Amino acid sequence: MTSPSILIVGGGLAGLAAATALAPRGYRVTVLESRPRLGGRASSFSDPATGQLVDACQHVSMGCCTNFAHFCRTLGIEHFLEPQRTLWFQTPDRRVSLFRADPWPAPFHLGRALAGAHYLSETDKLRIGWGLLQLRRTSPDADPPLLPWLHAHRQNARTIDRFWGIVLTSALNETVDRVGLKYARKVFVDGFMGHRDGFTVQLPRVPLGRLYGDELRAWLKSHDVEVRENCGVKSLLMGESQSPPVAATGGLSGVTLRDGGTIGGNRVLLTVPFDRVLDLLPPEIAVQPFFARIANLTPSPITSVHLWFDRDLTPLPHVVLVDCLGQWVFNRGGGYVQVVVSASRPLKSQGREKVQEEIVAELRRLYPSDAKLLRAKVVTEHTATFSAVPGVDAFRPPQATPAPNLFLAGDWTQTGWPATMEGAVRSGYLAAEAILAADGRPEALVRPDLA
Ligand SMILES: Cc1cc2nc3c(=O)[nH]c(=O)nc-3n(C[C@H](O)[C@H](O)[C@H](O)COP(=O)(O)OP(=O)(O)OC[C@H]3O[C@@H](n4cnc5c(N)ncnc54)[C@H](O)[C@@H]3O)c2cc1C
Repeated sequence: MTSPSILIVGGGLAGLAAATALAPRGYRVTVLESRPRLGGRASSFSDPATGQLVDACQHVSMGCCTNFAHFCRTLGIEHFLEPQRTLWFQTPDRRVSLFRADPWPAPFHLGRALAGAHYLSETDKLRIGWGLLQLRRTSPDADPPLLPWLHAHRQNARTIDRFWGIVLTSALNETVDRVGLKYARKVFVDGFMGHRDGFTVQLPRVPLGRLYGDELRAWLKSHDVEVRENCGVKSLLMGESQSPPVAATGGLSGVTLRDGGTIGGNRVLLTVPFDRVLDLLPPEIAVQPFFARIANLTPSPITSVHLWFDRDLTPLPHVVLVDCLGQWVFNRGGGYVQVVVSASRPLKSQGREKVQEEIVAELRRLYPSDAKLLRAKVVTEHTATFSAVPGVDAFRPPQATPAPNLFLAGDWTQTGWPATMEGAVRSGYLAAEAILAADGRPEALVRPDLA
């Protein structure tokens, strides 16, 4: 009997996660990736000045990301992730508060850390405590607009800006006035209230380009996963009328490539970003309401400012900024810092030079020194993630589709998670579950939450 095969379009984390689930279960997996590298949005570029791999944008994971952790363990790359037990919060007056767990059960483990935040008054902290308690009591599926909910639950401008906004803008890549309650709840309950380890940030010790590139090759090779880079898919092929006529079960029979070639396959897993999906589908499939709703997803950008100084600005490895333009400073050592601005829509009209100027001026105020700026690069990913607006799940399809041999994955599919590496990996595992179920081999692959 020949092994079942699967064509995975897209070599980001969703596609790779599906490959790691299906290859050991006897599937012949082929990954078709349009770029010359794997990892998708979690990627690096080569710094022209030094030739070093530099992450397009710093990526962090958290302890509550159980599927991402499982994916890294499967591939043997988990030792490249470094847990950060302390977070530092800094205000423009240069004062810094530590955020670290106490050895108490959740949710009390972070009570003292919140109480110590110098940028919140005692009443603010009581308001926040009350808001968190109420948030935990809401239904996990309710998704009204968050801002009116915060107002209705005693939050004021300061707690919204300096607490809810700080956490949510980084975690959801969207501002408080635009997000829905559902994913805001998820961030606080899963990340901060549910389990002592949920909030522990994990930082990769090596560039993403290496983590999701060279470090995976041996595993993929040993599981006979064929990876074709520089292999852009132009469209999915329908049924018998196309050649090669491979097992067309009334659905898809493979893909056509941008270079004009075709690859036959009796199952296709499409894992491209949400704004590319409809263009790849045959028109008769794309118009079906199941797929057409994807067009309602809207993007949110992230800007990352890379700065190389002639010395380190701060001894801290990373700092969350409060009341600043930059939101998170990552100190990568040797004078190289990356400042991340999530939900960076307001920067769009400013141009790169202005953004760089403002961020550099901010860093100089926060870390006064004679450090000389050697060079800089501003990178904006305009379609970084989908925007977690109220009710967004109505636009996110599940991984099994009405087309019998077409499956979907990607951080934008129905995962119960916002657009994150965890969401992407979950989607890959859910797609693998759907494929196994369609083949009469149901198996649960998604890992449970922290218990
Ligand atoms: C700037 C930025 C910062 C982020 N920070 C974080 C963070 O700190 N923590 C976190 O958890 N998440 C973060 N994310 C989100 C995270 O990167 C994504 O959620 C995750 O990588 C999405 O994986 P994916 O596989 O769903 O999609 P993608 O990574 O987009 O993968 C899709 C793949 O499909 C390929 N492709 C597209 N079209 C074709 C085609 N026609 N043929 C073949 N291949 C094609 C693409 O090249 C890509 O490799 C960030 C994202 C960005 C952009």
